[in-house]
Amino acid sequence: MSDYDVVVVGSGAGGGTCAWKLAANGVRVLLLEAGPAYDPYQDYRLHRNDWEAVRFPTKMPATRRYTFAPMQELESRWSHLRSWTHVTGQLVKGKTRKPGTYHHVLGLGGSTLHFQGEAHRLHPDAMRMQSRFGVAADWPLKYEDLEPFYLEAESLVGVAGPADTGARWRSAPYPLPPHGLGYASQKLADACKTLGLSWQPNSLAILSRPFDDRPPCNYCNNCHRGCPRRDKGSIDVTYIAKARATGRCTIRTGCRVLRVEAGKGDRVSGLVYRDAQGSDHKVKARAYVIACGTIETPRLLLASEDGNAPHGLANESGLVGRNLMESLSWASVGLHPEPLGSYRGVPADGICWDFNAPDAVSGVPGGIRLHHGTVFSDLLGPIAYSKRVVGEGWGREHKLKMRDRFGRAVGVGGLGEFLPNPRTYVDLDPNYSDQTGLPLPRIHSYVADTDLKRLEFIARTTQRILEAAGVDQVLEKLGTYDRFNTTHVFGTCRMGEDPESSVVDGWGRNHRWRNLYVMDASVFPSSGGGESPSLTIQALSLRNAERLTTMLSGRDL
Ligand SMILES: Cc1cc2nc3c(=O)[nH]c(=O)nc-3n(C[C@H](O)[C@H](O)[C@H](O)COP(=O)(O)OP(=O)(O)OC[C@H]3O[C@@H](n4cnc5c(N)ncnc54)[C@H](O)[C@@H]3O)c2cc1C
Ligand code: SF4
Repeated sequence: MSDYDVVVVGSGAGGGTCAWKLAANGVRVLLLEAGPAYDPYQDYRLHRNDWEAVRFPTKMPATRRYTFAPMQELESRWSHLRSWTHVTGQLVKGKTRKPGTYHHVLGLGGSTLHFQGEAHRLHPDAMRMQSRFGVAADWPLKYEDLEPFYLEAESLVGVAGPADTGARWRSAPYPLPPHGLGYASQKLADACKTLGLSWQPNSLAILSRPFDDRPPCNYCNNCHRGCPRRDKGSIDVTYIAKARATGRCTIRTGCRVLRVEAGKGDRVSGLVYRDAQGSDHKVKARAYVIACGTIETPRLLLASEDGNAPHGLANESGLVGRNLMESLSWASVGLHPEPLGSYRGVPADGICWDFNAPDAVSGVPGGIRLHHGTVFSDLLGPIAYSKRVVGEGWGREHKLKMRDRFGRAVGVGGLGEFLPNPRTYVDLDPNYSDQTGLPLPRIHSYVADTDLKRLEFIARTTQRILEAAGVDQVLEKLGTYDRFNTTHVFGTCRMGEDPESSVVDGWGRNHRWRNLYVMDASVFPSSGGGESPSLTIQALSLRNAERLTTMLSGRDL
């Protein structure tokens, strides 16, 4: 008999949450994580002089983790969507899109170690894109099915949010009061008012009060560099700390799962992982949860092909890796005539949801949201100001300009729906492998005209808000037309009711392999209208882990 009831692979928003829920329900869990554990007090660099030099201090060796298929040709009719800075001019010089960085984190807690703490519920209508507009796929569950689990997630990580939540109805208020708007965000709020738009405090997994033995935020604004106070609700300091405390969750870091084995009777029979010392181990359990993220989950499943699963594990529909949805984003940044102190606060403290419903942007299906984007552009410290705001120059003149401009940069960002298309997907690269011999995932990316029209709307509206806020000098316009971005990625193991058109069902269970589950961002059938995803990933994991607990007491697994 195995020592574990369930093995969970990957400890990010999906896997870490699932591991806690199962362990809290009395299930014996093994959590395998490819990356290392981070110590918030030691590993993050905000106490060091060179804090700004690195975005997130990765502890993993800098090896190649993915490849890109040839990128999309850029067209002159969309040239107004090309990224531009006042220092470099057009940023991408060539004629094709530039592959960006896949900056998801390998570590205990996954990409939430690096995230900005936004904690959003999906717009209920964003889960019905196929039946309403004939695009993407419908979710096999409704907002009301997820609502109790949203609330549970918010109460566990400590979300601070406003009273007015519009279409995203709530059965109880947020556990914590919202953070106030910073001075720069106030300027944007005033600008929105003159344009007839709304602007409100964002809902954030960042503590506005002491909560659950964690201190409140100190408004250093650098969540993406790793929070050294533990007040940002990353998965390591919330679910994983609680999972450990149950005494029923064994956590092994530095352990990469190499293959999941397809057994007899449509059941997975075990998996093999390589530990940090390079030794391979086989583990057996009653059920297996894959939660490696949108790029690594299809990679692992496709690499697990064998006689019982000739096209890759769980790939009977041929859809593992398909329907990848990448980030559609834009930021317009300018210099305000007044000192704003825009380097302090919490990231994206203010947000506009006016165009978030899937029919809110005229002429294209799929919504967007707009937010205070100074942090997203990482214009926070003297290095960024010196290079990107002041630009060339030395000595006293440079110093005076720095003194004059520091804290005056302000950005408005936007994120929008990305509709799945046949040219955007992940497969295995036949030519490149990592040091374990596992083929690298290869990303194929294409942004269709419908998405570019939505991006155009974001670009135009962010610019209007900046102008209305009194910004008289544009510094940067950065978008994903010419630069691939993976901050929010979804969809490579779509959930749905029909085994022909989806990989897992509405509980994360594969349609064929009875004891195989996927619980991460890869199951999203549509991306939502720019909402940040990790709260939805957590809510899905809580719901699915509850169901898996029940299944473990029956014979069906
Ligand atoms: C810079 C940045 C800012 C962001 N800001 C926000 C935000 O403010 N709000 C928000 O909601 N979302 C945000 N996101 C997105 C959010 O972090 C992700 O959507 C979310 O973490 C995805 O969860 P996941 O479980 O799918 O994958 P991840 O959290 O990436 O977790 C996957 C885990 O699996 C592990 N793994 C992979 N392969 C293997 C293997 N073979 N064996 C063992 N382990 C493996 C990885 O090491 C990783 O720990 C941000 C992302 C980035 C990069
Ligand atoms: S702004 Fe708050 S949550 Fe973010 S890193 Fe600083 S202290 Fe942590």
